[in-house]
Amino acid sequence: MSSSRVHPAKGAAAAPGGASARNQLFLSYFLDRYSRGVQMPFVLLAITAAASFGAAALAFVLALFAFEAGPIQCYAIAAVTGAAAFALAQGILRAAHGRRTAALALSAGLLDANRECLKLLDIDGKMLRISEFGAELMNAASPDQLAGANWLGFWAGADRTASEAAWAGALAGKRTSFTGQCATTTGRPKWWDSRLIPLSGADGRVTAMLCASVDVTQQNELLATLRTKDELMSEMEAHVRLVFYSYSADFRYFHYVSAGVERVFGIAPLVLQENSSAWLELVLPDDLDALRAEMGRIVAESADGRIKYRIRRTDGAIRWIQSTAYPVRNEAGTVVRIVGISEDVTAEEERIAALDQLAYSDSLTGLANRGALVRQMEAHCEVGAAFGLMFIDLDRFKVLNDTLGHTAADRLLKDIGRVITETLPADAYVARLGGDEFAVLISSTADKARLGCLAQTLLDVLSSSARNDHAGAFVTASIGISLYPEHGLDHEALLTSADIAMYAAKKAGRNGFRFADKDATGTIEDFELERDLPQALASGEFLLHYQGIHEPGSVSMKSVEALIRWMHPARGLVAPGVFIPILEESGFIVDVGAWVLDRALAQLAEWRSRGADGLCMSVNVSARQLRCDAIVKVVDRALRKHGLPARCLEIELTESALMENPTLAQETLAGLKRLGVRVAIDDFGTGYSSLRYLADFAPDTVKIDRSFTAKLARDAATRTIVRGIIEMSHELGIRVTAEGVEEEEQLDILRDAKCDYVQGYHLSRPVAPPLLDFSGVARATAA
Ligand code: C2E
Ligand code: MG
Ligand code: MG
Repeated sequence: MSSSRVHPAKGAAAAPGGASARNQLFLSYFLDRYSRGVQMPFVLLAITAAASFGAAALAFVLALFAFEAGPIQCYAIAAVTGAAAFALAQGILRAAHGRRTAALALSAGLLDANRECLKLLDIDGKMLRISEFGAELMNAASPDQLAGANWLGFWAGADRTASEAAWAGALAGKRTSFTGQCATTTGRPKWWDSRLIPLSGADGRVTAMLCASVDVTQQNELLATLRTKDELMSEMEAHVRLVFYSYSADFRYFHYVSAGVERVFGIAPLVLQENSSAWLELVLPDDLDALRAEMGRIVAESADGRIKYRIRRTDGAIRWIQSTAYPVRNEAGTVVRIVGISEDVTAEEERIAALDQLAYSDSLTGLANRGALVRQMEAHCEVGAAFGLMFIDLDRFKVLNDTLGHTAADRLLKDIGRVITETLPADAYVARLGGDEFAVLISSTADKARLGCLAQTLLDVLSSSARNDHAGAFVTASIGISLYPEHGLDHEALLTSADIAMYAAKKAGRNGFRFADKDATGTIEDFELERDLPQALASGEFLLHYQGIHEPGSVSMKSVEALIRWMHPARGLVAPGVFIPILEESGFIVDVGAWVLDRALAQLAEWRSRGADGLCMSVNVSARQLRCDAIVKVVDRALRKHGLPARCLEIELTESALMENPTLAQETLAGLKRLGVRVAIDDFGTGYSSLRYLADFAPDTVKIDRSFTAKLARDAATRTIVRGIIEMSHELGIRVTAEGVEEEEQLDILRDAKCDYVQGYHLSRPVAPPLLDFSGVARATAA
């Protein structure tokens, strides 16, 4: 911007012909016209008259003495001469005066009209005079302020060099010009376009210089602004993956396409000027119809538009493009063009896809998650074609999880996911819903026979011992199958009915499949309980009833057994036999078991503080709790919390619980015994009934199952067995409690057989704490 340019002025070196000649013609015309009407001033008239009188006098003298003419002749000659001289002198002077006046008027007019900074310089570059307007442009108070200033001294740097070159050219008699920046008297920098016109004397030597400078500051600033904007635009286009375009109102041809089109589409702007649909040829066929439809709508409705589509760029890359279009109207409201922006949004699309993948996939198995399955099912329901849904739940996964440890169990789940995917048809959409639950959408068939076949194959593969995976475990599953539209019209109904069917398959003995037909819906109540169970503890819906354990002789209450109940908000009191297996399967039994222990011991502490200080408490513990080695800590903490001696607590374990993992059970029992807690084998005789276990587990008490008690009075063999168990136990130092005593006769037999304790409806029923009668509690029996 600051570079100055020197260039010879047009028509340099005042050529005689051409513009200069025409200018002279213009001048003489003006002078002629203007000078004609000019009046002679009185002084000139007087001078003319005096000169004429002189000429007349001279003629008179000459006629009188040289030609010796007579007086009359002499007067006549003098008069004629005077008149002629007057006419002549007046003519000459008037013309000269007229032209001078005209020339002054013209130059005054020209100076007035001139919008340049005009300066008259001597050949040393000193400013002789500056025009009034020129002084104004230079911010001078008057032309005098600048008189004598050195013109060359105004310029600096490159402008100084340019001004000197122009000056030298002008000194050589050429008209020169240059553009440069110099400051005015106030220091404000201004841009000037200057011409130097040499003024020559009669001998052709340059005697002075006329310098005419045009103030082009505004113009230059405007140019600079435009150039900045232009550069900004170019920079933007160079760095942003954007195309700015202006299309004709009917999308037929481009008015303008920014250079970015080369980066975004891989097409040169020029190509689009010649073939405006060249970019459309890149759009993937799948996206083309929607794009054309949107363009058609924009034209038809004169409305804004926005659309995303994919292109295959000329370099083969597939890119996502987002285009916006805005119709531009003229004053009459007619759409005159469509402007807009096309942007490469591939990175954003990829990010969204990655997020989508994250949000809709199961991090452990890499399969789809519940959200993805729901989305897929919704899409299928919308299409309306029949399809099948399998709900797969591994059997006893909690047990596997505990036995294998979490890491191996996770690997097992991954393997299971892979097995499901590999076994089912390729179009099966496999998702993991969480935990050990998988679901599969099968769109290739909705035929029950075929789906049943697939389910059976899957079960066979899963349970196959040949399966070589991380678990190396014997895995079985239960599968529920629902069909669209038979078992539900939306994902929720279909998932629920498949879940219920899966539950029915579990009830039927696991390792099988069930369709969501009527027989499966029979299990809906259990299913509802299962669904409500997780909230029951937090909602305070569990409570404990207590049943007395008595001495057979005095029938005094020696101890009580805590029995859990669930007060279901809709179904009322639910017995433990219904929900304990569900709690065990889901693993909630651990938390619920800890709660039971705490509640039961709190109650015992309260009773003991109120006088029943010899009372003991029996608490049932399930197999699942036994696997969790924290049970010893939980028991210890609860005893300490309620300030109770360990001997007043008896933990009841069923045979089957002990047998699920005998080694672990033995370890846990040893831990409990170290605390001083007593251990009872519950429901003895219903499970393995091996007397060997009595020796192995060394319990403090054996509780004979009520099925034996029930037959005592009528069945001699049962009586023999019961007596045998009692004797054998006593030999081993184990006490015996008989459960389910409902009749006096049973009590008599047990008393005779030296059974240590009895429990049953005949003595007391399980009741809420306030209803328990402690009269006769054997204080001394507390250990
Ligand atoms: P259990 O430990 O053998 O408890 C005795 C069961 O027999 C109780 O059933 C009791 O109500 C019932 N019963 C007592 N006397 C008689 C009688 O004379 N005749 C008959 N027909 N039944 C009698 P309940 O309360 O339904 O408990 C069933 C089982 O649920 C319990 O059997 C126990 O194994 C389990 N259970 C109860 N509470 C808990 C608990 O807090 N934790 C765990 N893990 N299991 C529990
Ligand atoms: Mg019990
Ligand atoms: Mg029992």
